Amino acid sequence: MANVTRDFFIGLSNNKFLNDQAKRWGFRLGAEKFVAGTNIESVTNVVKKLNERGISCTIDNLGEYITEKSEAVAAKQELIKLLDKVHVEQLDCHISIKLTLLGLDIDRSFCMENAKEVLDVAKEYNIFVNFDMEDYSHYEQTLEALHQLRGIYPQIGTVIQSYLYRAEVDLEGLQDLRIRLVKGAYKETETVAYQLKEEIDRNFILLAKQRLLGDAFTSIATHDHHIINELKTFIAENKIDKNKFEFQMLYGFRTEMQYELAEAGYPFCTYIPFGTDWFAYFMRRLAERPQNLNLVLKDVFYT
Ligand code: FAD
Repeated sequence: MANVTRDFFIGLSNNKFLNDQAKRWGFRLGAEKFVAGTNIESVTNVVKKLNERGISCTIDNLGEYITEKSEAVAAKQELIKLLDKVHVEQLDCHISIKLTLLGLDIDRSFCMENAKEVLDVAKEYNIFVNFDMEDYSHYEQTLEALHQLRGIYPQIGTVIQSYLYRAEVDLEGLQDLRIRLVKGAYKETETVAYQLKEEIDRNFILLAKQRLLGDAFTSIATHDHHIINELKTFIAENKIDKNKFEFQMLYGFRTEMQYELAEAGYPFCTYIPFGTDWFAYFMRRLAERPQNLNLVLKDVFYT
C-alpha cells in the first residue's frame, strides 16, 4: 500500500500539465508550509530568522520541466540576484541548484555556460553551490558536470543517494568534496536502486559512517530519527570533529527537531525552497510522507 501511494504521488510530480497549471494557482494544497514564498525577499527573511537560531541554510530556487532557453536564462538571472542578496546581507547560507533548471534537458553546453555564470558569482562571494541530484536519467550528467567544474570552482559539491547500488563506488571518487547524503526521492528501477526501506537505510548508515571517518565535509540529510540517533552515537564514540559534518532537513519538516539539534550544538542546515514552481517538489514530499496529506485536505476543505 505504501508503495502504491508513493508511486501515485511520484506520478503526479512527473505530470508536466499539472506542474504548469500549479504555477498559476499560487500556493495551494498546503504547499506554503514547505515552500518559503515566491521570491528572494520572502526566502531570505526565513533564512535570517533561522540564522538567528544558529541554523545555516541552503536555498533552492524551484523550477522543473524547463524546456525553453528563456526559462533557463531567467532562472540563472534569479540565482545571481539571490547570490547578490546572500552576499550583501552576509547570510549564513549557500545555494542548491538542479542542473535541469539551467537547461540540462535543452542543451548540455548551454546549461554548462549558465552554470559557469552562476558559479563565477558564487566564487567571487565565496558562497558554496550544491548540485542537487535529480532522477537517475540525470545522474551521470550531473556527476560529469561536477567533475568538469570542480577544478575551476572549488566551492561546489553534489548529492549522493543511498538507494543507488553505485553510491558507495561513486563516493570513492568524491572523497575530497563536500557531499550531501540522502536516501533518494525519485522512483528508480531495481536495476539501479534498492527498493526496500531497510536496504536503503542500511546503505545510508554505512555511507554516512564512511564519510564521517574521511576528511571531507558531509551533510547528513534525513528526517529519520533512528538514523540520526545512531549517527550521533557514532560521532561521539569516534570523536568526529563538528567542522566535518552537519545535519540537514527540509524546511517545514520536523521543525522542533531541527531546533533541538541546533540547540544541542550540532551543526545544522535547513534546505529552503522558494518559487512558484512548487508542485513537483511538494508531490515528492507527499510521496515520502503521505501523512502530509492532512495539510492538503485541510486546504481543500477549509479554504
Ligand atoms: P524517511 O525514510 O522518509 O523517514 C524515515 C522515518 O523518519 C519515518 O518512518 C518517520 O518515522 C520519520 N519521519 C520522517 N519524516 C518525518 C516527519 N516529517 N515527522 C515525523 N517523523 C518523520 N533527494 C534527492 O533525490 N536529491 C536531492 O538532492 C535531495 N536533497 C535533499 C536535501 C535535504 C536537506 C533532505 C532532508 C532531503 C533531500 N532529498 C533529496 C530527499 C531524500 O532523498 C528523501 O527522499 C527524504 O529526505 C525522505 O527520506 P528521510 O531520510 O527523511 O526518511
